Amino acid sequence: MAEIRFEQAAALKEKPDVSKIGFGKEFSDYMFEMDYNPKQGWHDPRIVPYRDISVSPANCTLHYGQAIFEGMKAFRTHDNRIVIFRPLDHINRLNNSARILDIPEVDVETVHQGLRKLIEIEKEWVPAKKGTSLYIRPFIFATDPYLGVSVSATYKMMIILSPVAAYYAAGFNPVKIMVEDTYVRAVPGGLGEAKTPANYAASLHAGLVAHEKGYDQTLWLDGVHRKYIEEVGSMNILFKIKGEIVTPALCGSILSGITRKTVLAVAKEWGVPTSERRITIDEVHEAYQNGELEEVFGSGTAAVISPVGELYYKGEKMVINDGKIGPFTQKMYDHITGLHSGEVKDTLGFVEE
Ligand code: PMP
Repeated sequence: MAEIRFEQAAALKEKPDVSKIGFGKEFSDYMFEMDYNPKQGWHDPRIVPYRDISVSPANCTLHYGQAIFEGMKAFRTHDNRIVIFRPLDHINRLNNSARILDIPEVDVETVHQGLRKLIEIEKEWVPAKKGTSLYIRPFIFATDPYLGVSVSATYKMMIILSPVAAYYAAGFNPVKIMVEDTYVRAVPGGLGEAKTPANYAASLHAGLVAHEKGYDQTLWLDGVHRKYIEEVGSMNILFKIKGEIVTPALCGSILSGITRKTVLAVAKEWGVPTSERRITIDEVHEAYQNGELEEVFGSGTAAVISPVGELYYKGEKMVINDGKIGPFTQKMYDHITGLHSGEVKDTLGFVEE
């Protein structure tokens, strides 16, 4: 494993008031960086002061988007320890995205150690208030200064850190979701499974339209049959139907969420039946009409668990559980946030100190 060098900052910033910062606007004092070229491979892993970088106007990522990223969190526990939630799963998923985008994979051990060292240096940036966290954004982008459309020869990897406020500052509330029947996010054989900017660019316009109609997020249907449920903008989706937790199978066009994986593992530990399979919007609608759709919720690093109070599809509003948070949703939210805060025993080994 390569030695990780350290460059001291001349001065440190003042820490912001986390109750006022929202998401992703403030950054810590240091960042992790390393570079790739065909001769040296990934090299010179380092922790350096957070600063702007300069790229060529011909930088191929700016033009063709050969880039990938991750999103995970570090928490300060109730007894003042610092923990990271499932970091190795996130680094392995970064490498899965790398394979899809033809980006050279990183050495998991080097990035893991770089991340641990960065968090150790920046531990004062992990906020203490319940629900707050230090958001961790690893990313890799192509750096060839070349306008030809081709796989880049050179890359940069970085990890930046941003303290974030509690997602549910105004209380843990159900969201309203619009089932998208005009636009599509991804198709089989495409980039859907990768955490890559193109997928988010493809979702922006539909998100804007949903917001204008009073909905918080869009629920994507598959791009071919336009009936199989895929995922929400930045969350996976789970349904509780007749006591079973049903979620779309990982079919190549949706992200393999780490929170989704956590929910399924915890549900199994509790003895709650789970099923990863194809599920159509019509099946959800039928379950709703028969009174069998008990709960709907999203899962993702940002909000952890998002109860869904309403699903809108082709002119009809499906109000889930009277618009209230279901008991399973609440219990799962309490459990996972308890793992973050250290108040729930981590029997499945998800948190890393
Ligand atoms: N789907 C998409 C498209 C996402 O961006 C995210 C957030 N990373 C998720 C699902 C949830 O994944 P995770 O639980 O790993 O945050």
